[in-house]
Amino acid sequence: MSVDASSPPDASRAGDADRAFAQDLLQPDIPLKDWNTFGFDVRARFGATVDSAEALRAVLRDTRVAGLPVHVLGGGSNIVLTGDLDALVLRIALRGRSIVSASDVVDDGRRVRVQAGAGEPWHAFVDWTLAQGCPGLENLALIPGTVGAAPVQNIGAYGVEIADFFDTLTAMDRQTGDIRRFDCADCRFGYRDSVFKQPGGERWIILSVTFSLPKQWAPRRAYADLDKVLQARQCTAPTPRDIFDAVVAVRQAKLPDPAVIGNAGSFFKNPVIDAAQWASLQAREPGLIAYPQTDGRYKLAAGWLIDQCGWKGRGIAAGSAARVHDRQALVLTNTGGATGHDVMQLAACIVDDVAARFGVRLEAEPLVL
Ligand SMILES: Cc1cc2nc3c(=O)[nH]c(=O)nc-3n(C[C@H](O)[C@H](O)[C@H](O)COP(=O)(O)OP(=O)(O)OC[C@H]3O[C@@H](n4cnc5c(N)ncnc54)[C@H](O)[C@@H]3O)c2cc1C
Repeated sequence: MSVDASSPPDASRAGDADRAFAQDLLQPDIPLKDWNTFGFDVRARFGATVDSAEALRAVLRDTRVAGLPVHVLGGGSNIVLTGDLDALVLRIALRGRSIVSASDVVDDGRRVRVQAGAGEPWHAFVDWTLAQGCPGLENLALIPGTVGAAPVQNIGAYGVEIADFFDTLTAMDRQTGDIRRFDCADCRFGYRDSVFKQPGGERWIILSVTFSLPKQWAPRRAYADLDKVLQARQCTAPTPRDIFDAVVAVRQAKLPDPAVIGNAGSFFKNPVIDAAQWASLQAREPGLIAYPQTDGRYKLAAGWLIDQCGWKGRGIAAGSAARVHDRQALVLTNTGGATGHDVMQLAACIVDDVAARFGVRLEAEPLVL
């Protein structure tokens, strides 16, 4: 990890220019309904959309927000807002994407590096990399949200996670204003996890991310749903664009569009259990869906566990607006007028039922505020 620049954003050092800058950006009593894909109708004491590191520093230094908790959002597609926030909510909107010039990095001739601002929409960025002739990220098409949030939970889908193609990122320390570079080891990526989700990690605000994409490309089509679409389209030798299109088709068929039904994608992580627990569960539940891991453990399909407990398409009560999606039991939805509290109550009932039947405790994937 290396420090690139430093400028503490403490309020006492705010100059007139900074104050005027922040004045325009900082909005009091801001509605967050359009800032979260569940569509929860809550407000924050202050909000700001920032599109540069300078704007970010100016807002963090503003005396009106001194001492307030700070929450960082991209597209709000992996959060549950359970009530109004007496906090500053920052929406990160730094844009820009480029192919990193070979003269800027040690070029081993085998990889191409692409960089994007944290506020770039993820799906459009993946589409753009393919248009530049830089494949690798196509299995991650149509994941909502921003480039800057992608490393936070090491987003993954269809056999790929961003750790596979990650190079470096830059992030600002919200307390000091220092900007640091993180490499793969610094990020400590795990399954839907990174240093940014660990205690203390929330102090870093990601500004840009660089990916390292292989010049020699091979399709990753091992996932049954993906392969089925490719076969139906008679794609025996798929191009990166074929994989991208197939992933989009599979996701559109399986997952609710947050623009239509509020949701945050998979609500629970797939639990990972040891081989002994897997063997005893497998003996009891022959239909158990489990994926062997390289460390000898097994990852269970959380959606299957939830479905077996009879939750698919259901809420706690008949008319509840917080419901499990009817096509994908891993997705909890706001069908209209539900609160974050309603969704968390539903989640708690599901966790209890799955624990009672399978002895496995599900863990929520989104950030709960
Ligand atoms: C329909 C649907 C499908 C989904 N499918 C998948 C999937 O297949 N795989 C998957 O992994 N996820 C999936 N998700 C979850 C979500 O899209 C990803 O986690 C995404 O990366 C979140 O991006 P965001 O910009 O919306 O982040 P937000 O929801 O705004 O924030 C998520 C977390 O990241 C932090 N954060 C955001 N931006 C920054 C930043 N610049 N610096 C520091 N911290 C930041 C926030 O504080 C928060 O902790 C899905 C969600 C939906 C709604």
